[in-house]
Amino acid sequence: MPVEVALARLLEMADASRIVERERLPLAQVEGRVLAEDLLSSLDLPPWPNSAMDGYALRVADWNAEPLVVSQKVFAGQAPVALTPGTCARIFTGAPVPPGADCVEMQENAEVQADGRVRFTESLVIGQNIRPQGQETTVGELILPAGTRLGPIEQGLAASLGCAELAVIRKVRVAVLSTGDELIEPGQPLGPGQIYNSNRVLLCSWLQRLGCEVIDAGILPDDLDTTRARLGELGNVDLILSTGGVSVGEADFLGMALREEGELALWKLAIKPGKPLTFGHFRSVPVIGLPGNPASTLVTFALLARPYLLRRMGVQEVEPLKVQVPAGFDWTKAGNRREYLRGRLENGQAIIYRNQSSGVLRSAAWADGLVEVMEERTLVAGDSVYFIPLSEVLS
Ligand code: AMP
Ligand code: MG
Repeated sequence: MPVEVALARLLEMADASRIVERERLPLAQVEGRVLAEDLLSSLDLPPWPNSAMDGYALRVADWNAEPLVVSQKVFAGQAPVALTPGTCARIFTGAPVPPGADCVEMQENAEVQADGRVRFTESLVIGQNIRPQGQETTVGELILPAGTRLGPIEQGLAASLGCAELAVIRKVRVAVLSTGDELIEPGQPLGPGQIYNSNRVLLCSWLQRLGCEVIDAGILPDDLDTTRARLGELGNVDLILSTGGVSVGEADFLGMALREEGELALWKLAIKPGKPLTFGHFRSVPVIGLPGNPASTLVTFALLARPYLLRRMGVQEVEPLKVQVPAGFDWTKAGNRREYLRGRLENGQAIIYRNQSSGVLRSAAWADGLVEVMEERTLVAGDSVYFIPLSEVLS
């Protein structure tokens, strides 16, 4: 199954199970969350015309190269009075322009006379150096649509409009399960045949960044009864996200449990790393089973599970930005799966980590992004490839 087909199916299912419950949060707490309703401007921004410069406000019609008396001084934060005709006002950046003035001249073009009057040496244009009322926004304008992911910039924008709180979609509750008899947690001594569980913390941290509530369900042994029982104990979650146990049918206890008490689709994705992916339901809870090799977990989470989760929160644009760059390497063996190589940009070219094994997470720590090599493609250095920055998908 091509990656885009799998993604389209996942997004369709996400659309059908959108989380709609919302909560109101103080502005400082909405980072990483999704806006639940359109944010309309309740203000004109700026609320009044203000000066873009330190200088003098005057009426262009009063300028005739004769010095003008300074009739008032306006600092940012002050409310000016109407400009006395035939005078100018000393004004500073961000201060409201006095009614009656229609331009601001910067102080560098003004000569202060011994008697305190000011001569303007350059000719003036109506509106110069004035930021007009409503230049950024006018009352009632749509500023951020529902479904916008909120970050520092959106928080700042909402603050500029005076919003102290925003309505956001409630956190999606995701249960994280690591399957495999070989897994133990860091901190314990490594026994024969064992490996440390790297996917658990990787996914739990990542999900938190995505604004999810994580239910860490620990390690699941390769055993049907335990799998069935542990799934049953998870309670009220929106998604069960597991890793491992999907590569060979024989040890696929998650799959067996889903077949018994729900439904299961096993997809053979044309993606490398990360061929096998499970999508199903346990009772009525959606389940995504990612492949267990850490680099496979990373790639399939980034390209499939992450967009699925964001779409369940109501985000429309869920696919990461990719940029076209020249390959800084040759790729001689065309594969029948789309490859996502862990790579870096160096001197404007994509280079790749020496070991691209799906078990090697170190490749991704070295990398800044994923280099996409399409099915049946070979490359010579200089050919164009897509590069997906990891920073695009990690939050
Ligand atoms: P599986 O899909 O269960 O056959 O796992 C594929 C490979 O990924 C095996 O080498 C597993 O040992 C490894 N693996 C599975 N889960 C994890 C995990 N949570 N952390 C590290 N490696 C894992
Ligand atoms: Mg396993």
